[in-house]
Amino acid sequence: MLPVLLAASLLTPSEAAVQVEPTRVIDVVSHLSGGSDIDGAAIESRHILHPDHDRAGDWLQGRFEAIDGLEVQAEPFSALGEDDLRNIIADLPSAAAEPAGRIVFAAHWDSTASAEDDWEAATTPAPGADDDASGIAVLLEAATLLAAYEPGFAYDLRFIAFDAEEVGLVGSFHHVDALDEPVDVAIVFDPVGYNPGGSGLLWFAYHADWPEAGDEFLASADAIGTWLDVSGVNQASIGGDDRSDHFPFWEAGIPAIHIGSFPQPPAYHTSGDTLEVVDSAFLAEVAAIATAHAVRLAEPLEPIEEGDGCTGCDASAPRPLDGGILLVLAAVALGRRTWRRC
Ligand SMILES: [Zn+2]
Repeated sequence: MLPVLLAASLLTPSEAAVQVEPTRVIDVVSHLSGGSDIDGAAIESRHILHPDHDRAGDWLQGRFEAIDGLEVQAEPFSALGEDDLRNIIADLPSAAAEPAGRIVFAAHWDSTASAEDDWEAATTPAPGADDDASGIAVLLEAATLLAAYEPGFAYDLRFIAFDAEEVGLVGSFHHVDALDEPVDVAIVFDPVGYNPGGSGLLWFAYHADWPEAGDEFLASADAIGTWLDVSGVNQASIGGDDRSDHFPFWEAGIPAIHIGSFPQPPAYHTSGDTLEVVDSAFLAEVAAIATAHAVRLAEPLEPIEEGDGCTGCDASAPRPLDGGILLVLAAVALGRRTWRRC
């Protein structure tokens, strides 16, 4: 059952965060990392050169497509002689007449076991449960919950599952190079499932040019009273951070932050990065912070109360700006800045 975030009142970050379902989050990790079968067989690896790569991509794209309200597309590109690679882009368009901007949430769906002795990309298992099925699970959960909020949001929200991160951030560089619209900020989760000794430490790197991107993430964590120990570090103080898909955004002059659990698990980039590496309670809490953050940044639109002219939420009904001029004037008089679809 999908959650139902009804339009009775303005959605708050905390209300959205408590709807996170840990079982649904860990189920995504399980399917992508071979813990649960997909079409009768486990995914052994999501490396771009492994035969299971495309099957995992099909499953993941299908999961986004199953969420009502999202517009899903594959962004194709090639790398290492593979010409069937794809970023999976799921858009939750703003419900305002004019979108206030665009917020990106991202993770990568490919995997690697390149730290393994005698590693062979096409045959060595690379379950990548923590790296980065965990980040993908966070995206799917936040997308599921935000798409269910019927009045919608002022900003366009874009969820991106990048491909080919493990072979040099190829998918994210391709995406940023081909950007057709400005991005206000990108939040990248990679990886976010490992919680050694129950430390609860969630780390993120922000760029010295855009410290406010980190401040906002901390504010979202505070807003839900998280039990995680969330701490940001200026990338300049650690000699930079080019280790994930936030980096192409930085290179393009776009604010971004890189969120990860810390330290890395011993199984990092090996065939041992299985479901057991991931702490499901920790990961669910990351999903809660991410969901709260998406709500704060995207700015929920106000529900329209019963009796104020809204006749329901039939998607085929005219939007206020199409035909409801009296409603427009009334809302302007009330000081409403933005509109929902109605
Ligand atoms: Zn990664």
